[in-house]
Amino acid sequence: MKQKEILLNSLLKENTLSLSDLGNEEIGNEHLFTTIETPMKANAFDMSDEEKIKKIEFHFAEIMETLGLDLKDDSLKGTPERVAKMYVKEIFSGLDPANKPKAALFENKYQYDQMLVEKDITFYSNCEHHFVPIFGKAHVAYISSGKVIGLSKLNRIVQYFSKRPQVQERLTIQIAKELQIILQTEDVAVIIDAKHLCVSSRGVQDHNSATVSSFYGGKFSEEATKAEFLKYVEMKTSY
Ligand SMILES: [Zn+2]
Repeated sequence: MKQKEILLNSLLKENTLSLSDLGNEEIGNEHLFTTIETPMKANAFDMSDEEKIKKIEFHFAEIMETLGLDLKDDSLKGTPERVAKMYVKEIFSGLDPANKPKAALFENKYQYDQMLVEKDITFYSNCEHHFVPIFGKAHVAYISSGKVIGLSKLNRIVQYFSKRPQVQERLTIQIAKELQIILQTEDVAVIIDAKHLCVSSRGVQDHNSATVSSFYGGKFSEEATKAEFLKYVEMKTSY
């Protein structure tokens, strides 16, 4: 954990770091990452979604065949196509900027200048090192700079960045940076509390641990503001 924090700090300063000294297993099991932006190829969108689905379907069938599965079986034969569609249209649809939620801003007519917290946003993502699920809750907050955003948009922004192969720290930062840009303020906070199936179902097989990551921008880096946000996150709801 300590190693991760140090890496994250240097990453935030330099925006990039080199993991080339580490082996693939180590990078995966420690869930280290290199850039805040999701690493994408320059030609990532040259192919249409339909072309991608066809190609993934072909290759996923190869994986299943290699594992020894009989694709003539009625239960298995549609799996490559189902997985391909699910990857492109659902669980990795957040790779495509065309799917980014359009966030309309509204004037803050009520002059609400306090913190707004949207908590317990359920999200499902996938670990980029193992391609198995990461899921949990995101809590986001901002203090209006004069503009406000529809509440459902906060959920949609969390969902959009979740629908990529991810690393939890990057997911946290991507959500926070996007909110800062949209809301035109530094005063944004994000906490993600998540379970990684690559930790609980394989590797160290720890079933009880959870990973918490956070981002405190602008006023949220002040102790009182941070404490207020954490109090709302911890608050038990009575409905
Ligand atoms: Zn993993």
